[in-house]
Amino acid sequence: MLRIKNARIVEKDQLKTVNIYIERGKIKDILPAGEALLSVKKEIDAQRNVVFPGFIDPHVHFDDPGFTEREDFETGTKSAAAGGITTIIDMPCTSIPPITTASNYDYKLNIVKSKAYVDFAFWGGVTPEQVESGEYKKSLKELKDRGIVGVKFYTISGMELYPRMSVPYMDKVFRLMKELNLVCAIHAEDYYLVDYYSHLMQEMGREDPESWSLGRTYEAEPEAIWSVVGITEKVGNKLHIVHLSTKEGLNVIRWAKAQGLNVSTETCPQYLIFTTEDFKKLGSLLKIAPPLRKEEDREELWKGLKDGSIDFLSTDHAAGKYPEEKSSPDIWKNYAGIPGTQLAVPTMLHYGYHQGRLTLSEVQKLMSENTAKRYGLYPQKGAIQIGSDADFTIIDMDKEWTVEPSKLKSKGKYSPLAGKTLKGKIYMTILRGEIVYKDDEGVIGEKGFGELVKSKVE
Ligand SMILES: [Zn+2]
Repeated sequence: MLRIKNARIVEKDQLKTVNIYIERGKIKDILPAGEALLSVKKEIDAQRNVVFPGFIDPHVHFDDPGFTEREDFETGTKSAAAGGITTIIDMPCTSIPPITTASNYDYKLNIVKSKAYVDFAFWGGVTPEQVESGEYKKSLKELKDRGIVGVKFYTISGMELYPRMSVPYMDKVFRLMKELNLVCAIHAEDYYLVDYYSHLMQEMGREDPESWSLGRTYEAEPEAIWSVVGITEKVGNKLHIVHLSTKEGLNVIRWAKAQGLNVSTETCPQYLIFTTEDFKKLGSLLKIAPPLRKEEDREELWKGLKDGSIDFLSTDHAAGKYPEEKSSPDIWKNYAGIPGTQLAVPTMLHYGYHQGRLTLSEVQKLMSENTAKRYGLYPQKGAIQIGSDADFTIIDMDKEWTVEPSKLKSKGKYSPLAGKTLKGKIYMTILRGEIVYKDDEGVIGEKGFGELVKSKVE
């Protein structure tokens, strides 16, 4: 048995000092400090730092296999371990082939499992071609049996192998997804609006960052959310909107929740910190889709996290080759994406907790508990309770440090936070009772120790 001593855990926004006992990778007991100690073989000293349940990043693009010049499972999961993330959920579309069939899934799992430093789950996918042929019915059932957390849909797509889905096709697949009781996750930007205004900007010869934001026009997000919420209202499936960026999009989600629809959403640190004004200054480093929005949107997203209308956080980790894919003077030619997994936890502690926007228990829910619950991983993940996996993110809350992109474990060594001093640093990351990262030693976990986690949704 293993003991973590001097652990301060969050309980109803109070910190409580406990000893946590671990056996075979699971939490065996949690006893208040001061109670008689049980005999153990090994001990980890948390040094009175704050111990959270292992954080989860439910939206990453680790690109493996297929786009490994940008990222692979080894570098991606290493960056997660260093960032205090013990479970990641990888998107189905940015690897070749996409995870649209059982055999594609098996092929991918076989390649990535020996590379993982943290635990991982998968999103499944579906293409218009599979809907046309009817083949999706078989494939999605088989993917569910393999433990996917849900299926990802794009209302607009730049990916050749993973095209956008039309409303009639989404309606069809949502009906099957309701039967399978799986989440439908949507990249929500209206295709027609974005296509027209993006071409218009380029025809006008605009190459500046703002033209990217104007092309991917504001109303495209609420418009697309309305469309899919409309389908969900008829079908009754579980709907999730990824990387929410706008106040008006959030208002549609609030409306849907008020109607009792099974709708959730996430936002990402970049939408909580930066606006179009920052994009104009920093350029390509902040090129993302959907693009950054206005100050009032940024403020409203914080409100949404606080009032529960936004359910949890993700990073949408997507690394471009740096500097090659991030240096064109023409913003349209640069890669859209930020490798954010390693910095998400300290960012949320700095801008969320230390700046008084979120409490510690809100951070815990938004980065672990709520996520695990939505995707059927709870209470294996997302909880410090007896029987749960012994995954912990231990934080030195007051330690200040400066972001240096060259030190990121991701292949994409760039960040819009470069040079920023953040308060709150990862002290240790523990996965199923094993230390995988230590502040003074770096990533010390074993490659391949990360395991597949399956959604337990029935
Ligand atoms: Zn994404």
